[in-house]
Amino acid sequence: MTVQGLAGKRVIVTGASSGIGQAIAIRLAAEGCHVAINYRSDLEGAQKTETTAQEKAAHQGYEVKTRIIQADVSKEGDILSLVNRVVDAWGGFDVMVCNAGIQMEVPSHELTAADFDKVIGVNLRGAYLCAREAVQHFLQREQPGTIINVSSVHEIIPRPQYISYSISKGGMGNLTRTLALEYARSGIRVNAIAPGATETPINDDWVDDPDKEAAVEKHIPMGRAGTPEEMAAATAFLASDEAAYMTGQTLYIDGGLTLYADFRKPWSA
Ligand code: NAD
Repeated sequence: MTVQGLAGKRVIVTGASSGIGQAIAIRLAAEGCHVAINYRSDLEGAQKTETTAQEKAAHQGYEVKTRIIQADVSKEGDILSLVNRVVDAWGGFDVMVCNAGIQMEVPSHELTAADFDKVIGVNLRGAYLCAREAVQHFLQREQPGTIINVSSVHEIIPRPQYISYSISKGGMGNLTRTLALEYARSGIRVNAIAPGATETPINDDWVDDPDKEAAVEKHIPMGRAGTPEEMAAATAFLASDEAAYMTGQTLYIDGGLTLYADFRKPWSA
């Protein structure tokens, strides 16, 4: 558990009170990062993230600062205040992890404009605004910084009945690549992780049901869902100096899901 050049970095993780965001905050603390733990409404979850992050950091011999900050990333004012509070407390930050996300299952022809906006507002607009504030901060202080977006295999795999989610993650791909190209000369790296099916609260409908879980895992070449910790490991790599020459990339952490398991055996003949 040591990735080069992470210790001492100051990180903001959005949606860090559960699931992948929680695992990312804990892993980065264990690598010696100071971590701002953003949550929207689950203060208890955020406190659990903080306690575990502190324990893991101490176990690795690091003394890290942590801070719990409430903000709803669908509100621009909340994002500005999140960033300002971190800058006021720590003098700046080096890594922004845009992880907060929601999904909604509705046949595409029945989705209301308000519900469409809700998902896009958190997953895509929220991520863009967090990334924008990070870029502004990195440019102002004239020091390198990095942004990691938590995308999804649905950045490229269409997802019927989850149209707003599919669009948000597809858009996140171009958010990642566009910012990466625009700011590459300013020492700002922008990458994404794209989790496959991962055991987190967003998947409550199948995670606690063995039959449904088996149905999900049937489509995964490696035959199992991923863990939040596996997503956090890839994030730690992208945030570290070991990924110093990587920008504009989406790393698929999906047990081979994007290889399309149904093509495992020849179809014809
Ligand atoms: P999760 O529900 O545990 O985490 C989502 C987090 O985002 C929660 O902590 C939630 O409170 C927070 N959040 C939601 N709306 C917010 C808002 N307006 N402001 C601030 N925070 C908000 O589920 P997860 O699986 O850990 O999801 C994390 C990210 O991973 C999401 O972007 C999701 O799309 C992505 N992802 C998950 C999977 C999976 O299978 N679990 C697969 C691909 C991508």
